[in-house]
Amino acid sequence: MGENPLRHVRELPERPATSVPWPDWVSSSLRSAFAGCGVSAPWAHQVEAATRAHAGRHVVVATGTASGKSLAYQVPVLTALAANPRATALYLSPTKALGADQLRSASALGVAEVRAASFDGDTPLPERDWVRAHSRWVFTNPDMLHRGILPAHAKWAHFFRRLSYVVVDECHGYRGVFGSHVALLLRRLRRVARRYGSDPVFVLASATVSDPADSASLLSGVPCEAVTLDSSPRGARTVALWEPPLLAELAGENGAPVRRSAGAETARILTDLVVEGARTLAFVRSRRGAELTALSARHALSEVDSSLPSRVAAYRAGFLPEERRALEKSLADGSLLGVASTNALELGVDIAGLDAVVVAGYPGTLASFWQQAGRAGRAGDSALVVFVAQDNPLDTYLVHHPSAMLDKAVEATVIDPTNPYVLGPQLACAAMELPLTDACLSTFGGAAARRVVDELVGDGMLRRRPTGWFWTSRERPHSSVDIRGSGGEQIAVVETDSARMLGTVDPGSACATVHPGAVYLHQGTSFVVDDLDLESGLAMVHREDPEWSTMPREQIDISVLSTVERRAFGADVSVSLGEVAVTSHVVGYLRRLPSGQVLDQIPLDLPEQTLHTRAVWYTLSEALLAEAGVAHRDVPGALHAAEHAAIGLLPLFATCDRWDIGGVSTALHQDTGEATVFVHDGHPGGAGFADRGHTALIPWLTATRDAIAACECPAGCPSCVQSPKCGNGNEPLDKAGAVAVLDAVLRVVTARNQSPAA
Ligand SMILES: [Zn+2]
Ligand SMILES: [Zn+2]
Repeated sequence: MGENPLRHVRELPERPATSVPWPDWVSSSLRSAFAGCGVSAPWAHQVEAATRAHAGRHVVVATGTASGKSLAYQVPVLTALAANPRATALYLSPTKALGADQLRSASALGVAEVRAASFDGDTPLPERDWVRAHSRWVFTNPDMLHRGILPAHAKWAHFFRRLSYVVVDECHGYRGVFGSHVALLLRRLRRVARRYGSDPVFVLASATVSDPADSASLLSGVPCEAVTLDSSPRGARTVALWEPPLLAELAGENGAPVRRSAGAETARILTDLVVEGARTLAFVRSRRGAELTALSARHALSEVDSSLPSRVAAYRAGFLPEERRALEKSLADGSLLGVASTNALELGVDIAGLDAVVVAGYPGTLASFWQQAGRAGRAGDSALVVFVAQDNPLDTYLVHHPSAMLDKAVEATVIDPTNPYVLGPQLACAAMELPLTDACLSTFGGAAARRVVDELVGDGMLRRRPTGWFWTSRERPHSSVDIRGSGGEQIAVVETDSARMLGTVDPGSACATVHPGAVYLHQGTSFVVDDLDLESGLAMVHREDPEWSTMPREQIDISVLSTVERRAFGADVSVSLGEVAVTSHVVGYLRRLPSGQVLDQIPLDLPEQTLHTRAVWYTLSEALLAEAGVAHRDVPGALHAAEHAAIGLLPLFATCDRWDIGGVSTALHQDTGEATVFVHDGHPGGAGFADRGHTALIPWLTATRDAIAACECPAGCPSCVQSPKCGNGNEPLDKAGAVAVLDAVLRVVTARNQSPAA
């Protein structure tokens, strides 16, 4: 106790703006429209991106938060709509809130005859007809494009005929399975547009990422040029990395030490900043956490000054647009000093230039971190950004290795549009929209697409005719394709009394999360599951807030179906990538008190679940383990601990969440014949995460090793090797053994990588 939690301080210098004159092709009326909204001279990167798009080149603008990316697409779109009174444009955003903000901003320019309108799940039915018939700039999201627009393209013929631009905003948000679906959705969009004779220019907007041109080209399916030099002004910022201290008086699972929570620490920092009069935004991972943070900051402030508590509020998704704007306005004018928010605020909302931002827990990607940090700082003023580590291996690694967070280019987004589990349903939808031809299969991934089409023919879904492949059913496949999920039918979580659907769970994880007796949290309210019926896809719950939480006990087996690539490093280590079957069997669950005390273990009778996906794995010989000093009886714990930490660190390299992936480790695996650690994708067919781990193996395992070694706990805790989703109750775990295993593997792999004769 009393230890200084400050791990690192970095000063980021001020950057002045580079403004340029409007290019000649921008009309004077458009210039004065922007001048009316406060833009007299655009920044260099805005003009560069807009000019390329105007010239018909696909472009991605990848610059920081509040760098005016909207203008980069508004200018070419509005110019095209003015030049041709029948031209149209489509805007896509990952969230409705962002779409609404962007629609408001485009409408505020007051350009006549554009009739910009939103078309999403909230658009009333009578209005939809009007939008289809009259709007020339439609603001929608991938879900609506997939379910509402493409399958009914004939009704949109007039819109598609002159489609000149497609804007894909916040495109770094499209990753994993969702990103793979969106990539194929954009190919479907281009195909339909071509059918009506148009070939739209794509303009993508992204956070700063490491190779924006490649990511954008893979997502859109068209070659994109990147504009990355950010010429917007930025104030100086101080970034502080903060690791909450271990609390001596508390013990967690298996006696592990406990850190003060990131939420409690964030509330204290927020309180101090508000007392100083700094306008501060705190980002907290969960909605309940945001409310608790605001509440405890208000409580602490009431002891300082009775006028201060009312100047702190919580902000979350689900607010009405008026509520959001009122809150944003009072934060901007300083009547509100502190706001605790979930990531709902991350996208597009017009808040910038604050005095301080506190980020509680790594938000999943560096892009998100910088986006949140970008809310702080104004030209000519300095600002503070505090990152507070949560107790998981990734956050531990980051506060101990600041350059991984502050000097690294933001990770590229990982998608895999050739995943057959994504291609299958997407090609079914595409074939229903327009028959598939050989030519269009190349758009959808060539040989991989052809294999999937042959399977769909075999299943009787498609029929081959001389002119192409045709959808055979009268029914649209679209509604059963969940583009944000894993492809299977989701399990609906329903409250028995009210018959209200609370949410959905993907079928692969239903046994672990909504088994009978499970405590299920929904937006901060607690429910207990009465019954899980996998056949009918229903989990019935009732409202109850027991003092315990539940943790599933799971037996997991993995078998190798095929090896895509195997590298042997002598006789001691091999590294492979391949297809695997992961069989999981939830056999019971523990009821646990908040103190960590286990009340009891309750058995369950649930069926086994099998997941076919991709995995990366490495093996170690018995000789190498002995040489590394890992005793025979410690091997399972050492491998298990190394597996947990590796799962925790992969998100640093693969833009996934630790919940998107899983692992299995064993001292002797039946398929490899050796001690093996597997890390696998959590989605059918994979989402590219295991592949990314395979590519980045050395930096990934190095970071894994360093994260474990950096944690000062004696024998393992949630900040290093314990995992919140372990099906074995975090046993056995051997922290020192894990470091020895990783050191040994890295020594062999790096030595062999460097020796040319190997
Ligand atoms: Zn630890
Ligand atoms: Zn485990």
